[in-house]
Amino acid sequence: MKLRKVVEGLEELYPLWLKEEWDFPGLVLGDGERECEKIFFALDPTEKTALEAREWGADLMITHHPLFFRAVHRIPSTDPHGRVASILLGSNCALWVGHTNVDSSPRGTNDALCSRLGLLKTKPMEFQGEVNGLPAGMGRVGDLEREMSLEEFAGLCREKLPKTVQGAKMAGDARMKVKRVAVMSGAGDSFLDKAIDLKADAFLTSDLRHHPALDAIEKAKALGKPMGLVDVSHFSSEFPWFDFALRDIENKFEGLVECRLCSLYTDPWSGIFI
Ligand SMILES: [Zn+2]
Repeated sequence: MKLRKVVEGLEELYPLWLKEEWDFPGLVLGDGERECEKIFFALDPTEKTALEAREWGADLMITHHPLFFRAVHRIPSTDPHGRVASILLGSNCALWVGHTNVDSSPRGTNDALCSRLGLLKTKPMEFQGEVNGLPAGMGRVGDLEREMSLEEFAGLCREKLPKTVQGAKMAGDARMKVKRVAVMSGAGDSFLDKAIDLKADAFLTSDLRHHPALDAIEKAKALGKPMGLVDVSHFSSEFPWFDFALRDIENKFEGLVECRLCSLYTDPWSGIFI
């Protein structure tokens, strides 16, 4: 099947209109007229993941994170991003990025997080519209199957999400009761206020910094509805998307494509000392 047909199908599952304004997901490298059968998935387009895609003979690599975040004026192979581009172009492997459009889409990164944690009655934190009859938008809010302490919820996150050296960090009263949970895959501190507005008992996200975390806890307490925070690694908050993506894309193209997940973990952290 032609690459452009594969891209059309991908963008039916994860429409580009759902992307954030600053983001540029979609086809980054590749010729739409080439045949595409082997699709390789990785969270990050790095030299090692690109080499694994090349070794398998991938026609298309799908990553969640963009290859280029900012305007680019040159891509020599001495530059880390240029190196990835030259490996992929040199082996006729295209690159399609599903970033914030995948975060917001049904069965994207946020739905996958909810599924791992067994959240029920989930809906977007910020509704953007419908995709294939399902609500789409950033983040999710839903209920745990049963009420538990914040400490137990943090333990559940550590147990159910991909293992990284960070594990799960918790902020707030360990014994507070948690039932209603807001989640935001990736760096979610811009949604702390929204989680408070939604009266979440706990907010799960990644990359939380000192001041926003402290301010959110104090603000929720001052409003009379304390909220706990759980911070996991950026990698483990997004990697669960592949639970859905490989199956959904194979189903979409009804056996015309073969999918494989990268064997490498691209979490940058290799140790923690406490
Ligand atoms: Zn991310």
